[in-house]
Amino acid sequence: MPRPHGLSKSRYTAGLQCHKQLWWRVHEPEAPELVPDAGTRRLFDTGLHVGEVARGYVPGGALIDLPHTDYEGKAAETQRAIEAGAPAIYEASFAAGQVFVAVDILVCEPPGWRVIEVKSTTSLKDQHLPDAAIQMYVARQTGLRVTGADVMVLNPACAFPDLSNLFTRHDVSADVEGLQGSIPGEVRSQLSMLAGRLPVVPVGPHCSKPYACPFIARCWPVLPRHHVSTLFRSRNRAQEFEALGYVTIHDLPGGLGLNVQAERQRRAVRAGRMIVEGDLGHALEPFQSPLAFLDFETVQFAIPIWDGCHPYDQIPAQFSCHRERPGGGLDHFEWAASKTWRSRCPARPPRSAPSSRGSSIRCRWCAITSTTRTSRAASA
Ligand code: SF4
Repeated sequence: MPRPHGLSKSRYTAGLQCHKQLWWRVHEPEAPELVPDAGTRRLFDTGLHVGEVARGYVPGGALIDLPHTDYEGKAAETQRAIEAGAPAIYEASFAAGQVFVAVDILVCEPPGWRVIEVKSTTSLKDQHLPDAAIQMYVARQTGLRVTGADVMVLNPACAFPDLSNLFTRHDVSADVEGLQGSIPGEVRSQLSMLAGRLPVVPVGPHCSKPYACPFIARCWPVLPRHHVSTLFRSRNRAQEFEALGYVTIHDLPGGLGLNVQAERQRRAVRAGRMIVEGDLGHALEPFQSPLAFLDFETVQFAIPIWDGCHPYDQIPAQFSCHRERPGGGLDHFEWAASKTWRSRCPARPPRSAPSSRGSSIRCRWCAITSTTRTSRAASA
C-alpha cells in the first residue's frame, strides 16, 4: 500500500508542480508550513462540502466510508461495490504500484466506468486534468475498464433557490487520455526521488503556479525592503524589472507604464514620504457635513443560500457606519446578517446546547460555523 512514501492523487499533483515540495510534504508531514491556517481550512471545508453535495446530482451510489488511512479496506470495499453492480460509487478507491487514489464519483457507463472529479470552482482549469488523469490511470492499473473522465464544477449561472443546475460536467476524456502516456515515467521519477535525499530545485514561476507552494519562505531568499515585487498589483512584472537590473522600488525610473497606484507608490518610496495628490482636496469638495463613513464586509458561498445569488457571488453581509454629529462626535450604526443566513439556510442544522461560551452551529449546507454569545449587555 502506498504510505508512507507512496503517492496519492494530491502528492502526485504536488510532485508535478515541484519535486522538492513533494519531498518535504512526504518527509516532513508535520512541517509548520503544512498546518492549514483558518483560510485554508475554510477552503478544505468548502471543497469537502461541495463534494458531498455533488453526490446528490449523481444519485444512487454507494459511499466508501472508511477511515482515511484504511487504504486496503477502502480498495476492497470498492471492489465489492463494483461486483455488487453499484450504478455509482462515491470515494471509489484504487491502489496500484504504490499509488492510491480515491475517485470523487465513479459512474457505471456500460461497457465501462467514468471517473468524475468534483471541483469547488466555477470553471474548468488546466490543473484539473492531471487530477483526473492519475485517477483514470490507477483505476485502469487495477483492471477496471475506464472509458471516460469528467470534471464537475459549480455552474455560475445557477441561481438560488433553483439549484437543479448547480453543477456543470466537462468531458475531459480526450485530454486525460493524452496524459496517460506520461504518467508511468512521472510516477517512477517521483517514487525514486522520494527514496533519496532532498532534491535540488531552483525557485521560479512554478512556486506559485498552479498553486502557491507552502515552502516559499524556506526556498526564496529574503527580499530587501521595497523589493520590486511589492509594487501594488504589479507582482507579475517583478521578473521583468529584475531582468532590467532594478531590485527595489528606489531603483525604478519613471515611464515604466505602472498603474496609477503603483506609480504613486514609486514616487512615495523614492521621496521617502507620503504623497497626497494635489487634486484630492478638489475631489472631496462636493462632500458636505454631516458625512457618514461606511465599512462593509462580504461573504462568498460556494453554494448560494439567498434568492437570486449564484455560486461565489460576493454578498455584503455586515456593515458599520459612523455618521458625524452636528455638535461633534460620531454616531455608530452596525448590522450583521448572521441570523438571516441561519434562518434562510435550506439545510439548517439544530443548534447545539448553549454553554457558558455560547451556542454554535456548523451548517452542512454553507459550511459556516457560527457562534452566538449572549451577554447581559446584549440581552438588555
Ligand atoms: S518554493 Fe518553489 S522550489 Fe521551493 S519547494 Fe516550493 S515550489 Fe519547490
